[in-house]
Amino acid sequence: MTASPPGPDFTARLERARTEMTADGVDALVVSVGSDLPYLLGYEAVANERLTMAVITPAGATLFVPGLEEPRVMRRGELFDVVAWEETEDPLDLVAARIVGAGRVATGAQTWSRFLLGLQDRLPGVRFVDATGIMRRLRVVKDGVELALLQTAAAAADRVAEGLAGEQFSGRTERELARFIAAETVAAGHETSSFAIVASGPNAASPHHEPGDRIIAAGDAVVADFGGRVGGYASDITRTFHVGEPAPEFSAAYDVLVEAQEAAVAAVAPGVVAEDVDRAAREVIGNAGYGAYFIHRTGHGIGLDVHEDPYLVAGNSEALGPGMAFSIEPGIYVPGRFGMRIEDIVAVDDGGSRRLNSAGRELRVVG
Ligand code: ZN
Ligand code: ZN
Repeated sequence: MTASPPGPDFTARLERARTEMTADGVDALVVSVGSDLPYLLGYEAVANERLTMAVITPAGATLFVPGLEEPRVMRRGELFDVVAWEETEDPLDLVAARIVGAGRVATGAQTWSRFLLGLQDRLPGVRFVDATGIMRRLRVVKDGVELALLQTAAAAADRVAEGLAGEQFSGRTERELARFIAAETVAAGHETSSFAIVASGPNAASPHHEPGDRIIAAGDAVVADFGGRVGGYASDITRTFHVGEPAPEFSAAYDVLVEAQEAAVAAVAPGVVAEDVDRAAREVIGNAGYGAYFIHRTGHGIGLDVHEDPYLVAGNSEALGPGMAFSIEPGIYVPGRFGMRIEDIVAVDDGGSRRLNSAGRELRVVG
């Protein structure tokens, strides 16, 4: 019998959260829907009108949940108390009673405004501040458990990408292919599919194209960008396919893109600042004359959220460090004509970096 892998150390996470709260002069940390709550307590709120909220103070932690959702809560020893509120109660009154007397309260960025405004009404003496800084410092460096989940998710995404190279593209609509990819994402080992972008022909010039009824045909480049979740942690991969042999101009641009992605990955190391990785990709694309067609940042951090810190973008001078994980995804988008993108997840380690994705990055010619 093999032992199951160790889970997250929530006790250590709460301890670190309290250290960061002290550093920011915050008396209580309030988190609700989104990824901050599962990161801290291992419980994900049902995102609906019934309030789920955790209040973390130096003295303890309390999770307020709708009574009917209490059975979903995995109690973790002494880590936090649970208050299950009844349908006839006002849960904001209960939360307010827990934080009354606090001077500064940090609120998770994804807490709904209705909840925050309700607390502000009840607690006029409390100063509410954004908890993004605290949560960012906690979450930006992944521990071993998190990196293992990101690696497992990336390997599953690789299997989907490799399988796509053997698929018939022409004759299918973008929407049909996106549904196929979503199903394959689960079949390959993810618990859920998070998204599947399929952008064909001129649509591929729109990086976040919504797959539609366009029928994929010979001569199209097709950008497929998709991901799912394993143990809460996200995968996110992009590969570009071509239906039939590409024109020389497309092949030449694709060679530039491969070189740009490689240059950005090679630039990643501990101590390197985020914007320098962006510049490494942008220089290669700019030198080839496509600079105006690379219209987004080079990458984004990934973890419980598909997009989180650190962002690889001009103006971000934060230094990268071991344990950070992010996408490297340069693209070239020529409006009305074609688009292309290559995306891998990369993790910083002590010596440099490693790609978590290994699916082939060469242009895949499909039928
Ligand atoms: Zn992506
Ligand atoms: Zn991405």
